[in-house]
Amino acid sequence: MYNVYFYIILAFVVLSFVWGQILSFLNRKRMSPDIPPALAGIYNAEEYGRQQAYQKENSRFGLITGSFSFALTLLVLFFGVLGWLDTTLRTDITNFILLPLAFFGVILAVSEVLDFPFDWYATFVIEEKFGFNKSTCKLFVLDWVKNILLTVVLGGLILTAILCIYHYTETWFWLLAWIVVSVFSLIMSLFYSEWIVPLFNKQTPLEAGELRNAIEAFAQKAGFELTNIYVMDGSKRSSKANAYFTGMGKKKRIVLFDTLMKELDTDEIVAVLAHEIGHYKKKHTIYSLVGSIVTTGITFYILSLFLNSRPLAEALGGQIPSFHLGLVGFSFLFAPVSELTGLVFNAFSRKNEYEADAYTTQFGLGNALISALKKLSVQSLSNLNPHPWVVFWYYSHPTLLQRINAIQTHS
Ligand SMILES: [Zn+2]
Repeated sequence: MYNVYFYIILAFVVLSFVWGQILSFLNRKRMSPDIPPALAGIYNAEEYGRQQAYQKENSRFGLITGSFSFALTLLVLFFGVLGWLDTTLRTDITNFILLPLAFFGVILAVSEVLDFPFDWYATFVIEEKFGFNKSTCKLFVLDWVKNILLTVVLGGLILTAILCIYHYTETWFWLLAWIVVSVFSLIMSLFYSEWIVPLFNKQTPLEAGELRNAIEAFAQKAGFELTNIYVMDGSKRSSKANAYFTGMGKKKRIVLFDTLMKELDTDEIVAVLAHEIGHYKKKHTIYSLVGSIVTTGITFYILSLFLNSRPLAEALGGQIPSFHLGLVGFSFLFAPVSELTGLVFNAFSRKNEYEADAYTTQFGLGNALISALKKLSVQSLSNLNPHPWVVFWYYSHPTLLQRINAIQTHS
């Protein structure tokens, strides 16, 4: 069992944990009770103290959850728990679809149960303490159940499709699986707001009035055909504000959280939407989609080389090579590559954020955007001064200060 693959996997797991802890340590070292001079005035001293306390609390919580899942992963690896699970299930289930489904079903059930207390604590202790949480126990449990059902149904469907492809067409497995997964994610991105969101939130068309007029006037100026503007009841879970853009072509829609409308004035909301429209106009949506389709294809190809690998199954404590042990083993081995692609995607995303900000600024909305970004940062108690390595590694958006500087040089 303790073969080369085992030690490679072990090394990756340890390195990734250590690196994560180094980054989070660097971030903690940078915390200071003084607001960066360029952002002076966005908080008063008392509010900034709250921001620092929130950050400290989240960082401590991250250390606890990270250490817990690290220790658990080590136990699972050293005791060959995944292989044991496969061997145990095989005594009753032999079907090529049912065995992997049962295997992943057990993993899903165990991880959902283990995660539950941590999620509960994050929502009802940390978020609650800082006044963000608006969810109730009932809503929380209901969300949890719905999310699991959704994972079981959608995950089960896509997994069954992939298993059939694997069983019947071994040579072209990666190509066919790639096509199926890409079509699936394309459909999901088109119908996400119509099929998935309503399970959790209510979306109502933005009513006629000053705000709608202002948004439509902007869309017309920008040459952007926009009929779907919706308001979503984000306030039923959290007081944190947000806005996003989904879909393509006729399906495109802009969704404003009701919390955003409470926090920002009309000009600021138009600036936030201009930014979202900027992403569309600059084709960021298409590029990200193409990027993720290409990565999926490469991943499936490399995966196909590892599926059914005997030493990999043995490294996880299994006796017989199988699709599911191969897939899990592969996801451990591929982790460093995923980290690297994640870095590329984040860098690309940060560049896109600057472009969408610049687009907004072109329409004379630079100052409104700056004031919206400041309000949103204060409202969510975001970190004003993250360590540059942390930004490089994890951030999909530039920091508030970086964005303000860039907007000011453009306007
Ligand atoms: Zn953006």
